[in-house]
Parts: sequence; C-alpha cells; structure tokens
Amino acid sequence: MSTASVNGWCLTSSSSSSTRLSGLRRSTLGPSIVASLNTSPSPPSLIQDRPVFAAPIPLLIPREDIGNKSYEEAVEALKKLLREKEVKGEAAGRVDEITASLNATLSADGVPNASVETLKEGFIYFKKEKYDKNPALYGELAKGQSPKYMIVACSDSRVCPSHVLDMQPGEAFVVRNVANMVPPYDQTKYAGIGSAIEYAVLHLKVQEIVVIGHSACGGIKGLMSFPYDGTTSTDFIEDWVKIGMPAKTKVLAEHDSEPFGGQCAHCEKEAVNVSLGNLLSYPFVRDGLVKKTLAVKGGYYDFVNGTFELWSLEFQLSNPLSVKDVATILHWKLY
Ligand SMILES: [Zn+2]
Repeated sequence: MSTASVNGWCLTSSSSSSTRLSGLRRSTLGPSIVASLNTSPSPPSLIQDRPVFAAPIPLLIPREDIGNKSYEEAVEALKKLLREKEVKGEAAGRVDEITASLNATLSADGVPNASVETLKEGFIYFKKEKYDKNPALYGELAKGQSPKYMIVACSDSRVCPSHVLDMQPGEAFVVRNVANMVPPYDQTKYAGIGSAIEYAVLHLKVQEIVVIGHSACGGIKGLMSFPYDGTTSTDFIEDWVKIGMPAKTKVLAEHDSEPFGGQCAHCEKEAVNVSLGNLLSYPFVRDGLVKKTLAVKGGYYDFVNGTFELWSLEFQLSNPLSVKDVATILHWKLY
C-alpha cells in the first residue's frame, strides 16, 4: 500500500514540507504509520489533502505594498508602485532588475522559470540543430535500438559518457550511478542495474560493457572516508559504495603512505576493476565472454587533466564459478 492511497491523503510536493518529509521518509513508509493513517481523524502535519503532483506553493517574500498576493499580482503591484512613485534613472534601472529577477525566479505556479527555460531552450536547440537535421538517424532509432556498447558511468554531472566519448543516440546503452559501480549478481538487492545488464546483453546483444571511472569521484571519496565501523551517516550511500570495498582494501594495502587524494585516485581505477570482476557473476555476461560475443573493458576519464584511459582484462575462467587469473591485455591512454 502506498501512502498516496491512504484515505485519499497524499504526500505534498510543496517545498515547505520537504525538510520534515526527508527526516521522516522511512517512517512514513512503514506499515505501522500507514495503519495509523487509516484511523487518524485528521491528516498528520506532513500529509495534506492535495495530489502528489500538485505544484508547490509559490514562494513569495512578503514585501511592502505587495503583501501576500499571488505572484502575478505581486509583479503587477511592483510595477504599479514604481509608476506611482515615478522612479527614474538609476533607481528605475534597479527596479527593472528586481522585476526581471522576480520573473526569472518563479513563475505563477511556483516553478523556477530559469530552470524551465534551460530545459525548454535545450530541447529547442536539440530539435532544430540535431533532430531535424538527422532524419535518417532518428528515423532508424524510431524503429529500435541496437547499441554496440553498454556503459556504466558515474552520475557525476561532469562525466556524461555520451559527451566525453562523442557518442550519438543509439550508440550506447547507459547506466549511471554513484561511483559507477557494478554490484555482484543479486536478484533481491540490485534489480535495477541487474535488469539493465540483462537487457543489454540478452536482448540488445551489446558487444562491449565498459565501466568508466573518473577523477575526483565523490562516491569513491566517500568509500575511502566512511569508517564502516557499524555506524552510518547516510541512508543509502555507504551501503552502495561499499560494493567497491575490495578496491579500498587493496589501495590501503598498496598505497598506505600516500596522501588521501592519491589513494582516492588509485581507488577510482581499482573500483572499476572490482566492477569488471563483479560482471562475471552475471551468468549471461559469463556466457557472452566464454562465447566471445561480449567483452568487458575498464575506462577512466580524468576531467582535471583531460585524459581518457581504456583497458581490458582477460579473465581466465577455471570453472563456471571462479576466476582463475586476470591479465591486462589492452591499455591505452589518450592525452
Ligand atoms: Zn563519481
């Protein structure tokens, strides 16, 4: 049962409750709380009788002569105030700035205009300059996809693999997550990435799975920083990046005397190798490797120095469940 259906009450999306909501998120999803909602005569403070898709309340700072009017009314009132007071010269310019700032900050429904404009203008540019100019490509893509690559990359906003590798739509089936981790095969814990790998290998029949790490990765820094002593300070992150623990252990053993930054840089690459190893725990990946219809590669993008490395590991499989040996059979670096 979701809280959205309980007595018709829905979690509001207004930002005013977001802080309280984040602090109570786990408990609101618990069955005991849901049960209490059914008997509650009035909604708890974080539950409101509005649809979850309701737009947030416009955030307006009450101003003199404007009060609590709606956003449009507020802007109009500001303009009227200026006309009445015959603001001129530099003051008028400042007022124009304020008005423009208001217009750029929030629209009538409380959605940040500047953010929306960025999305709108981005799509307009894409549609005009790329989509409309490549009818052959997008016509083919309309029929289906047949990407050569599956790429696992970090969610970091600076490392979009399509940009870094100049890939066109249809070329790569991409999964992005914190610290570009591939967890071991586990149907109960990792269905998200597991389904992506399954779909890429069995249905799209990609030829390569490339796991790409990167410089200054916050997820790896977290892995190297978290104490893992039984205490936790995050809801998800520590448990997620712990997938790379073998990399952390190796780095601490081999680079114990190095500064923390250097250790993180080593771990950014070692964690890629851990993910490559974990890929072998997926039966369809192993099968593809044995039949040589699939290859796995590691990559590393250093956006500080503008370099990209790629390497390939050959896994010698001694039996269906164990890796006998690992050898680097390809490694190049572009500056
Ligand atoms: Zn990262």
